[in-house]
Amino acid sequence: MSTAYFYLHAEMNCFLPRDKRNVTITLSFKGDQSLKHLVESLGVPHTEVGLILVNGQARDLNEITHNGDRIEVRPAAPGCLIEPRFLVDNHLGRLAAYLRMLGFDCLYNNDYQDDRIADILAEDIRILLSRDRRLLMRKVVQYDYCLRSLEPQEQLTEVVRRFDLADKIRPFHRCLRCNATLEPVSKEAVLDRLEPLTKRYFDEFRLCPACDQVYWKGSHYERMQELIQRIS
Ligand SMILES: [Zn+2]
Repeated sequence: MSTAYFYLHAEMNCFLPRDKRNVTITLSFKGDQSLKHLVESLGVPHTEVGLILVNGQARDLNEITHNGDRIEVRPAAPGCLIEPRFLVDNHLGRLAAYLRMLGFDCLYNNDYQDDRIADILAEDIRILLSRDRRLLMRKVVQYDYCLRSLEPQEQLTEVVRRFDLADKIRPFHRCLRCNATLEPVSKEAVLDRLEPLTKRYFDEFRLCPACDQVYWKGSHYERMQELIQRIS
């Protein structure tokens, strides 16, 4: 039997039960175990790890853990290594709508089961957003974020900050219903579908080429601007 000593920094502690936060955790293990395996056995998805130090030296997560190692785990710094395209699990419909509202490509379907999510990630490089740590720890998941909050607007704020997205927000750009990119459309082309007040006060319209939904910068758009002010 070998023993390693773990200390998790800052927000990494949110993955631990309360009695293990901000203290050194003694972990016993048998045989050859990678740092990654032991970190995940504590409940921390490996993609949340920014830096791992073993006896004060930066190491790769795939290295083997040795008896007596003192291991420090630091969170990933804000930023996004890949294009910010998301996939959310089937509990996160409101977060998906918010991300689309800010112009981000976000796949969501309330029928998505874990296997389907894994299949999508095997073919398409996307950042998986979920609160389900078992799902996040699947091998196929390369980029992910474990949401802390249960509240959709707070979740949105977490995602914008974690992936440093404030400069990439493009409202009025993506369909909230189906994720397709919106296209400009003339007022005349959609005139027969507009309410009298919309006809009178708005001149700029967008159309979803996939589901045919019409968008304009109405009260909904103003609420969105307020939201953007709050989170960025
Ligand atoms: Zn659409």
